[in-house]
Amino acid sequence: MNFLKEYVHLQQKVIKIKSRGEKMTKIIYHEDFAAHYAMDPAAEPGRLEPAVNLLKEKYSLIVPKPADKEQILLIHSERHYHSISADRLLLHTALLSAGAAIEAAKTAMNGEYTFALCRPPGHHASPDSCWGFCYFNNIAIAVKEALQVGKVNSALIVDFDLHFGDGTANAFEGVKEVSFWHSHETNRQRYLEHLRSDLDNLDADIVAISAGFDRGVDDWGGILTADDYKEIGTLLAFFARQKCQNRLFAVLEGGYNHQALAKNIDAFLSGLKTPGHA
Ligand SMILES: [Zn+2]
Repeated sequence: MNFLKEYVHLQQKVIKIKSRGEKMTKIIYHEDFAAHYAMDPAAEPGRLEPAVNLLKEKYSLIVPKPADKEQILLIHSERHYHSISADRLLLHTALLSAGAAIEAAKTAMNGEYTFALCRPPGHHASPDSCWGFCYFNNIAIAVKEALQVGKVNSALIVDFDLHFGDGTANAFEGVKEVSFWHSHETNRQRYLEHLRSDLDNLDADIVAISAGFDRGVDDWGGILTADDYKEIGTLLAFFARQKCQNRLFAVLEGGYNHQALAKNIDAFLSGLKTPGHA
């Protein structure tokens, strides 16, 4: 082996060792999320494909399994489960979406960041009712299960969707172990400052993110740029590193401009990259 070859070989070895030590962000995705399960903007054909195509080149994918009924009943009433189960395709996709959030939380317990690229979204689903393209509250179910398993004793849910996650707030009303953050601030700079200063004062064993991208400049809210989503990612990864032993997971909520959604998720995930995390 000549010197150059040996050098390249050694370099590759170093890179391999380095990447083994780094925690890689994982995407949780199932091809059944492409199903046209409802007639609403979240269920629109082609909504997730640009994001999947972009992210599968950069991150490894985990295929989730559907949540079971007992997991749904951690948050929802039997009556609510029954009302969704009348439509088999909707039920299947909604169980899979909740399953993706549960898998994201479970994987995050090892200090790996995860992003559930799933639909239908969930943050407008309350224990006994739902609206706003949501059916089961994916993030609430995942957080409740994480607390029940007992590896964490408290959770912070950061909801940066344009809309208030009323379902999530209702699910954890009066539950002191779970804090919920959302801001109605419409000024871009003040929005980011609000998040930054509140994170300074909050504490939790795990950070769960209701990642809605409909506040984007090319989406309904028209406020945040791709760089802003990157900044949000950086702020949350810093919080996770400082306070949660790197336990961080995110679950997709809104975001209706298909191309902008892909770009903004990618920017958010690049913001999560911190020392020891790729
Ligand atoms: Zn929204």
